[in-house]
Amino acid sequence: MLNDEQLYRHLLDEMHDGIYIVDKDKNITYWNKSAERLTGYKATDTIGSHCSGDILMHCDKGGATLCKKFCPVNESITNGKRFEAEVYLQHREGHRVPVLMCISPLIDKEGKITGAVEIFSDHSWSVAAVDRIEELRKIALLDALTEVANRRFIEISISNLLSGMKRYNFPFGLLFVDVDHFKKINDTYGHEIGDRILKIIAKSLSSTLRPLDVIGRWGGEEFVVLLLHATHENLTAVATRLRLLVENSFLNTENGVIRTTVSIGGTVATADDTIETVIKRADELMYQSKQKGRNCVTI
Ligand code: GH3
Ligand code: MG
Ligand code: MG
Repeated sequence: MLNDEQLYRHLLDEMHDGIYIVDKDKNITYWNKSAERLTGYKATDTIGSHCSGDILMHCDKGGATLCKKFCPVNESITNGKRFEAEVYLQHREGHRVPVLMCISPLIDKEGKITGAVEIFSDHSWSVAAVDRIEELRKIALLDALTEVANRRFIEISISNLLSGMKRYNFPFGLLFVDVDHFKKINDTYGHEIGDRILKIIAKSLSSTLRPLDVIGRWGGEEFVVLLLHATHENLTAVATRLRLLVENSFLNTENGVIRTTVSIGGTVATADDTIETVIKRADELMYQSKQKGRNCVTI
């Protein structure tokens, strides 16, 4: 059984954030494993040394060294203040690491400040990479209007699924979804309302799919859904559910509620399919749904 101190020490050691503690003379008394990982300095290098030594040398966004200009640890210890800031710490190998740091005073039972704790988390991922990747991802693979996958992403996905099917016999199905009388919606309410309808349809379709299924905009008012491990039966069930979801969705506008429906064609891919053949078959089945009077499913 762990006592309280062992338990807290264990928790601190295992935290994903870097944590170090200083006493009121700013000597480092604790340094956790993530602090070692983020800074390159081992606990044995740091414990016992003064935190404004050459170890971390935090600097702010403008490059000014905090320890010399304004030391938040000092402020925390003398005035009991708490600080949060984006700073750059010095890695043992010399490069700067962007971190989100939070410093707060440590206060004992009598209310006396005994030191301070700094918690810092790696900020490099969020600083640059996330924005860049998100941007690239959007430009390259997301449809800008509806924020579902774009045609290129669907083609890549079908190609991967076809390889998986040929190699490992993983079946998949494809639904081709076309909005009914969409031209009339544009003509009656305007293109902007048409765009909002497309967004709602994309949301309705994507909200009901499983995480590994893919929904994308094939073009204009056409969407494609890719379903893993599909059979004729579950393809019919999913397509029917999607059809009903759209039928029961609506857009509230100043000109009243606008409703729309979709026609769906669906097919299970076969080993000799290519991207073109599987899309063409689903598109032709979708067209049969149009001929049957729209708002229906043909598998
Ligand atoms: P059907 O029931 O036979 O599918 O009739 P439909 O009117 O939906 O089909 P049609 O292919 O004649 O018209 C599709 C319309 O979709 C024409 C085009 O202006 C419109 N459209 C295509 N892309 C967009 C878009 O990004 N935004 C809007 N608002 N309309 C679009
Ligand atoms: Mg169409
Ligand atoms: Mg249409």
